[in-house]
Amino acid sequence: MYLKLVAAVLTGIIATAITATNAAAEAESRITILYDAFGSDSTMTKDWGFSALVEIAGKRILFDTGDNAEIFAANVKAKGVDLTKLDFVVLSHRHSDHMAGLSAVLSANPTVKIYAPKEGFGIYGSSLPSSFYRKDDSLPPDMRYYAGKPPEIMKFGAAWANAKFELIDQTTEIAPGITLIALVSDLPGTKELKELSLAVNTADGIVLVVGCSHPGIERIVEAAAAINPKIHLIAGGFHLVVAPDDAIAKVVTALKERFNVESIAPGHCTGEPTFAALKKAFGDKYLYAGLGTSIPLGASAGSAVRRGEGPINEDLATYRKLAAREDPFGVMRARMRLGSNL
Ligand SMILES: [Zn+2]
Ligand SMILES: [Zn+2]
Repeated sequence: MYLKLVAAVLTGIIATAITATNAAAEAESRITILYDAFGSDSTMTKDWGFSALVEIAGKRILFDTGDNAEIFAANVKAKGVDLTKLDFVVLSHRHSDHMAGLSAVLSANPTVKIYAPKEGFGIYGSSLPSSFYRKDDSLPPDMRYYAGKPPEIMKFGAAWANAKFELIDQTTEIAPGITLIALVSDLPGTKELKELSLAVNTADGIVLVVGCSHPGIERIVEAAAAINPKIHLIAGGFHLVVAPDDAIAKVVTALKERFNVESIAPGHCTGEPTFAALKKAFGDKYLYAGLGTSIPLGASAGSAVRRGEGPINEDLATYRKLAAREDPFGVMRARMRLGSNL
């Protein structure tokens, strides 16, 4: 009898422990917005830029670092995020509104691995085989590069000399089910800019986190769909902040009808008219993603989510002000130069 009781109690404890573990694993799968220009969390500071803590597939990934190290550090603190406990950082591209908070990350965690796009002579460093330049043996050594004996690989420095960058040149699966999609923008103002997007293949389909989508959100989603055609969620900036209505409508239709994207959590450079268009198209599959929001992923994604809500008017006023402050994409400049709608 006594043994039976012990066994029953133990079974109960084990069952509770398993349930708790599952719940913890589920609760840990979420995307928390740490930097953006709209949101209703009064303990955080709104500013133009993007950063999100992506807790998924058992990993804690910091995706981008915002526009200002002090604001980033304060927002991180307000949200109780521990920067010393990161598996890695992804810097989507070299624009300051995505990477200027890196110094705050490095002061908390100097040895964290940082994935960044590999670009020739970029701020994240680069390298080239010395065979890239033409040689001339007829010159005296003191007129020749490296006296005529260059290193096999020529290395070019990063703006953060001691940071542990891992430069990504092409789409790479960096951990099981976790892929960095590398694409290059071809638009005036950001031509040749390389951008990384994070695609995680989950049981529900692809969870795709985008920074600014300079190469085009459709191209990024197309690359993600090649991994798994089921696109569960897209979060981040879609880069339609100055796009005209017809361009917005085209993207919304593609996301909805061509790619059958299930849920959408747009932020940053997506743009106000695009928030409105996506909200209309996706209804309760439009997940609010303002500054400070945690979007739960997986089976636990239910009651805690603000569905079908765009940014409120007060949010949009700040968003508008910050978006007008500068031209973070070079798009407005390019538009003026070309006298056309990009
Ligand atoms: Zn950008
Ligand atoms: Zn941006």
